[in-house]
Amino acid sequence: MDLQRITDDIVAKVAPIVGQYPPADYIPGLKAIDPSQFGIAVATVNGEVYGAGNWTTPFSIQSISKVFTLALVLAADGEDLWRRVFREPSGNAFNSLLQLEHEAGIPRNPFINAGALVITDRLHTLTGNASSTVRDLLRAESGSTVDPDPNIAASEAAHGHRNAALAHLLSSYGNLDNPVETVLHEYIQHCALTMNCRDLAVSARFLASNGRDANGHMVLSASHAKRVNALMLTCGLYDAAGEFAYRVGLPAKSGVGGGILAIVPGKCAISVWSPGLGKSGNSVAGVAALDEFTNRTGWSIF
Ligand code: GLU
Repeated sequence: MDLQRITDDIVAKVAPIVGQYPPADYIPGLKAIDPSQFGIAVATVNGEVYGAGNWTTPFSIQSISKVFTLALVLAADGEDLWRRVFREPSGNAFNSLLQLEHEAGIPRNPFINAGALVITDRLHTLTGNASSTVRDLLRAESGSTVDPDPNIAASEAAHGHRNAALAHLLSSYGNLDNPVETVLHEYIQHCALTMNCRDLAVSARFLASNGRDANGHMVLSASHAKRVNALMLTCGLYDAAGEFAYRVGLPAKSGVGGGILAIVPGKCAISVWSPGLGKSGNSVAGVAALDEFTNRTGWSIF
């Protein structure tokens, strides 16, 4: 399989749609990013890395960080975690308040904002600093410098009324252990982490290889890696998880910065990035690229 050629071809294939869609506008710092960029990186379980396009340009990973917060809390708490968060797709917007009240403060899954706030809260209790724990995991796995972008974090903090509302509602149901302000701060900091496609794909390689990274270090047990992949498949692409499973057929997690991380169990982690988003908040060129990748390689879980 000539993965370098495939990634090069994908850049050419998606070029006509790159720059045709707008970036997220509810976080002003993201709106300012040039949408005419696209990158792809593939990190194989054998330790090889291939990339093309803007694959070394840093971007805001946003909700992709939730894969790593979930992995850290699952590794520490195991099944006890599921007393505070459900594991079902929500069918509502990722920042919806409606379902949270209806279901008495237990978020539908760890990837919608309410669920991610609970996971961040738990990680903060476990480690004393949720966002630096995620940052340190990403630094260790990628071997690169990873930091939050202070402008994106400030921009989100200034416009984060909906997440603040979710956090207060969670707290009113007793589903946060730390103060609302602390949880929001930590959540915003890990969402604002900046990485490029190469570093993100390399960092997530453990999810493609039964929880072990390329150095043989066990980040997660094989069973927990399988569970994170299952949640990515069912809940990772907002309200378009079903459509994405139909089109691409891989566990994945998207972020409003335009990144998507996808896992081919046993083979590789793939990271794509292009800031222009479709109606469901997923990178349009990113989804098209992953569609093409699975067509070209035949690598899909179905
Ligand atoms: N920090 C963003 C928010 O809470 C993350 C959203 C996303 O990427 O899905 O709105």
